[in-house]
Amino acid sequence: WPKVKFCLFLSPKWFPITQTLLIARVKGPQTTSESVCVVEEMEIAGSDSNGREFQNAEEMWREEVGDHQKKTDWYRQGVGYWEDVEASVDGVLGGYGHVNEPDIKGSEAFLNTLLAERFADEGRNRHLVALDCGSGIGRVTKNLLIRYFNEVDLLEPVSHFLEAARQNLAPENLMVSDTQKAANFYCVPLQEFTPDAGRYDVIWVQWCIGHLADDDFVSFFKRAKGGLKPGGLFVLKENLTRNGFVLDKEDRSITRSDLYFRQLFNWCGLHVYKTKDQKGFPKELFPVKMYALTTDVPKRANGSRSKAQSNRPGIIK
Ligand code: SAH
Repeated sequence: WPKVKFCLFLSPKWFPITQTLLIARVKGPQTTSESVCVVEEMEIAGSDSNGREFQNAEEMWREEVGDHQKKTDWYRQGVGYWEDVEASVDGVLGGYGHVNEPDIKGSEAFLNTLLAERFADEGRNRHLVALDCGSGIGRVTKNLLIRYFNEVDLLEPVSHFLEAARQNLAPENLMVSDTQKAANFYCVPLQEFTPDAGRYDVIWVQWCIGHLADDDFVSFFKRAKGGLKPGGLFVLKENLTRNGFVLDKEDRSITRSDLYFRQLFNWCGLHVYKTKDQKGFPKELFPVKMYALTTDVPKRANGSRSKAQSNRPGIIK
């Protein structure tokens, strides 16, 4: 869900800027700019919505989910927040229903590129199956996934959202052929879900991963890798901070930076195949990025130029 960048007008001292990072470029035929990898643990500072600052994410996680009871409370409050939200597009988009259109357009362009690059004949001769994680009322499935995939499963822990999704995606409310359908509706949170082995071409995770603590983030993706078909991929679409993290005490979620995500992807054993920045959102919102993640090392990634190329003399055009 799009989130307002609430620290926009605060003084620079509020911005979490303490990041230490050591990077190494991987040499060899598969060198790409996306192969830059974090080789030393980084320290990412952050703050919460009350202005409290944290030296690093570990300090925050210790406080928030440091024991069994705290973790149970964290997830209960996260779901509890959404249980009080209206089951509508405006509801799941935090009052920004009008970003639905640019969001879907941006996602569709990204998905088209991925299908064209990753699947023979853009997947047209294949029975394509997707999973929509933290699906809410089925907005992404209804406006996008169902038009490209033969089957879409939805996972959503808030039951009144999932019921609305069931309604919205009932065959009589869909304008697609009968070879495309919403197949399974799972009312479980991501941290408790294990997909059926090898079922999915694409696992779509949008605006919900902020609810997962780092350890559950990593174990979810590690488990979910087993749910991908060979050549399948994850799409993660999320709000980003420019630096560090911001913890929202109201809905128990965390907004991470690109660097923070990339460290987690490393821990998951996932590779960034492609990324794209979402365009056309209101300025007061956090920037939004799409990541395509694969289990295999990508041969080529977007925006990538090998070190040798970028250092080579270039003709001025
Ligand atoms: N992805 C949808 C909904 C975004 S709203 C869309 O883009 O329209 C955020 C969603 O995350 C809500 O539906 C909320 O119930 C869900 N959510 C909250 N905690 C979650 C968890 N632990 N696991 C999976 N989904 C969660």
